[in-house]
Amino acid sequence: MDKEIIRILLVEDDEDDYILTKDLFAQVDNRIYDVEWVSNYADALKVINNNSYDACLFDYRLGEHTGLDLLREAVASGCKVPIIILTGQGDSEIDIESLKAGATDYLNKAEITTQLLERAVRYAIERKRTEDRILRMAYYDTLTNLPNRSLFHDRLSKALAHAERYSGNLALLFIDLDNFKRINDTLEHRIGDLLLMEVAERLHDYVRSADTVARQNTAALTNTVARLGGDEFTILLTEINTLQDAAKVSQRILHLLTQPFSLDGHEVFVTASVGIAIFPYDGEDMNMLIKNADTAMYHAKELGKNNFQFYKHSMNASALERLTLENSLRKALERDEFILHYQPRIDITTGTIVGTEALIRWNHKEKGLIPPGQFIPLAEETGLIIPIGEWVLEEACRQNKMWQNSGFMCTPVIVSLNLSGHQFVQKDLMKIIEKVLDDSGMDPSYLELEITESVIMKNADSTTTMLNKLKDMGIRISMDDFGTGYSSFSYLKRFPLDNVKIDRSFIRDVTESNENAAIVKAIIVMAHALNLRVVAEGVETRQQLDLLIEFGCDELQGFLFSKPLAAEDLAQYITERGKKNGRDVLINLLQ
Ligand code: C2E
Ligand code: MG
Ligand code: MG
Repeated sequence: MDKEIIRILLVEDDEDDYILTKDLFAQVDNRIYDVEWVSNYADALKVINNNSYDACLFDYRLGEHTGLDLLREAVASGCKVPIIILTGQGDSEIDIESLKAGATDYLNKAEITTQLLERAVRYAIERKRTEDRILRMAYYDTLTNLPNRSLFHDRLSKALAHAERYSGNLALLFIDLDNFKRINDTLEHRIGDLLLMEVAERLHDYVRSADTVARQNTAALTNTVARLGGDEFTILLTEINTLQDAAKVSQRILHLLTQPFSLDGHEVFVTASVGIAIFPYDGEDMNMLIKNADTAMYHAKELGKNNFQFYKHSMNASALERLTLENSLRKALERDEFILHYQPRIDITTGTIVGTEALIRWNHKEKGLIPPGQFIPLAEETGLIIPIGEWVLEEACRQNKMWQNSGFMCTPVIVSLNLSGHQFVQKDLMKIIEKVLDDSGMDPSYLELEITESVIMKNADSTTTMLNKLKDMGIRISMDDFGTGYSSFSYLKRFPLDNVKIDRSFIRDVTESNENAAIVKAIIVMAHALNLRVVAEGVETRQQLDLLIEFGCDELQGFLFSKPLAAEDLAQYITERGKKNGRDVLINLLQ
């Protein structure tokens, strides 16, 4: 029979002592002791947790450190291997301290013999195994190997303490199989057990893979799947970002469980009901959260099973609606459901159209035209803004170049488009823009990018570099919605901008509010001092226009002239008005 191999890590700074210890181990007949030698503290820390050892031996004296330091460090980092401390002459005090710190045993080097060493190591390994077994029995469900109720409570209370401290959220999911009793009664109990084991495995595998999907995770706070008993499972999702994360996981679980189970020749179908409680909204302590997740689960059963419910009923509708919207948003690009509308920008002094702003809309097959405010935030949250933004860029440049080629405008105009913060930090943004310009053949000087203050400020240094690169390419930059964020003029000076767009909220009551009028006037004066053009957004009335002319505003955009229009409609708008003298158009409009 092959001899058992026992792997030992020996941390010992004295080579002679290493050789001695190795020789002692070599004299054992019925086992092979494979001794790996590490001579210093730092190297020991590196290898200790690779878990390939059956036992560790630490010399107490390790240069400027001690074996006790190493022991404490190993235990703190979760080392599960039994550790024996080797002490020299006169280190007797260390014994008890080592045991307290988690050592399994200690040996006085002066007294070591082969038998003593061998026995200490074997006992240490055996003792550790027994401890682990006891721990497993106390904390894990024997049928499914999932954490049991005790361990679940333990993890939940730790996660709660963490969430409380860092103002985080937690989701507690209660999952109950809908037809388990029937399966257990009609088939044998053995099949019922097999089903529970399979369910446990599916849940466990999914939650582990969802770790990276739903949210970022810290090593200490992992998602936990537990079996509370019978056919009741719970899942603890730590650090969820939104309600949708919990809804998504629940929906996925329902889907996973409806896939047929093949159990010892029987094909079995089950469904489940899921109740969700969110910390801190549905309870601030463990008992309250558990109780409410349970209540929500019963509510899911009442509603016909095979569904999930939040504890707060108001959350269900919004979570579901968002989820449905997200699913269709994912498909919108490939279904070609986005369109761009273009709103003309008018030069105040000449009345000519100097450009258009491209504004996205979603042509949803059931809901009709959805404005950007209702899906851009979701697109940003899900990362879909990147491909959507790329589409906007391509489409706007393509369209604008087509207008330029067709020559129906007096002069070629610029097209401006809105760049989300997510696109702005995208590494290959420059490449994408270059490619789009190349493909469309549009000169970069006809492209303007609108960026909001918060995007610019978020990372002022890298922003400056990026903006400078864009400027070098000949692209124009606009600061959008000015006045709603930091409104810092020193920033206006610092960044290479061409335009400032005053937010609609200031223009709205510029004629009624003296304060707003003063602000608008000041923005125009300051911007001009910095050589920036000023665009007023949301001009709706003649009075607003008069005031803006008086203040010396350069450009305007608003319903007074035109709403954002589909490309064909804009072409018509321009054909009707644009061929005439621009100033006349403006005057006509004003009369
Ligand atoms: P924004 O860039 O400030 O665009 C101006 C918004 O004001 C547009 O709303 C426009 O329809 C509206 N507007 C213009 N003139 C008037 C007016 O006289 N009165 C009123 N009441 N409204 C006026 P819209 O199209 O709903 O877009 C809203 C926001 O959505 C945009 O604000 C922009 O931040 C964002 N957005 C639009 N398209 C895109 C896009 O392609 N990508 C990204 N990332 N964001 C976009
Ligand atoms: Mg804009
Ligand atoms: Mg704006």
